[in-house]
Amino acid sequence: MDQSRQSFLGKNSPQIIASLRVAIVGLGGGGSHIAQQLAHVGIGNFVLVDFDHVEDSNLNRLVGATAKDVNKARLKVDIIARQIKAVNPAMKITKITKPWQEDAEHLRDCHAIFGCVDSFSCRRDLEVFARRYLIPYIDIGMDVHPLPSGEFSISGQTVMSLPGELCLKCLGFLTDDLLALEAQNYRAAGGKPQVVWPNGVLASMAVGLFMQLYTPWHYSERPTLYLEYDGNESEVKLTPRWPYLEGKRCPHFNQIEDVGDPFFEHKE
Ligand SMILES: [Zn+2]
Repeated sequence: MDQSRQSFLGKNSPQIIASLRVAIVGLGGGGSHIAQQLAHVGIGNFVLVDFDHVEDSNLNRLVGATAKDVNKARLKVDIIARQIKAVNPAMKITKITKPWQEDAEHLRDCHAIFGCVDSFSCRRDLEVFARRYLIPYIDIGMDVHPLPSGEFSISGQTVMSLPGELCLKCLGFLTDDLLALEAQNYRAAGGKPQVVWPNGVLASMAVGLFMQLYTPWHYSERPTLYLEYDGNESEVKLTPRWPYLEGKRCPHFNQIEDVGDPFFEHKE
């Protein structure tokens, strides 16, 4: 084979990437970017989870959605599936249009689960599920905060929870206080948040962490688990907590009884 044609992602990388199966839970602004990038990268199998249909207020950030989709009240899973199929009609797509917990068997054999959800309890449930099936869980989230000066700050993070590694709690992302408060300042961005560009940054970081897991383009001693984005400074960096986490082990997911089907109490 002509070496110059080999991808920087490694030998046989197109076949390897095509064999991967990923789930994206939450197809809002962030999830739509991730789906688009993974389609172009050549992922062969998708599980798309979202029970919502597109609304006028989503058009400023849901990549791939059109005014016609809003008129037809199309489901977000159908819009994203159309985007993916437009890149490669052969890609296999499973659509789930109910809460993921009700159809969780489709997520069990995924190579990664991307969480693009609003609530911290939903993130925790997704991580618990992913850990039980030894699946990497990659989470993105963003906040828009009002500042005392009257300006706004945009910040966000991409966090990855790997089997055997530190979890979202250990990393300081999920805290009991946050779970209790369900604090989200995103509303500060208004009713139609035009957050397409920070979503794009966070999604790109998430896809980068995923590609690092499955392709050997570089080796790193310690996997990158927690990247922070400062939208006002246009800066992405490792969480400042990182140096203090060296050598720590997760006490939350070590028990062997934590593997297998979890049970969730789902409230409508
Ligand atoms: Zn932990």
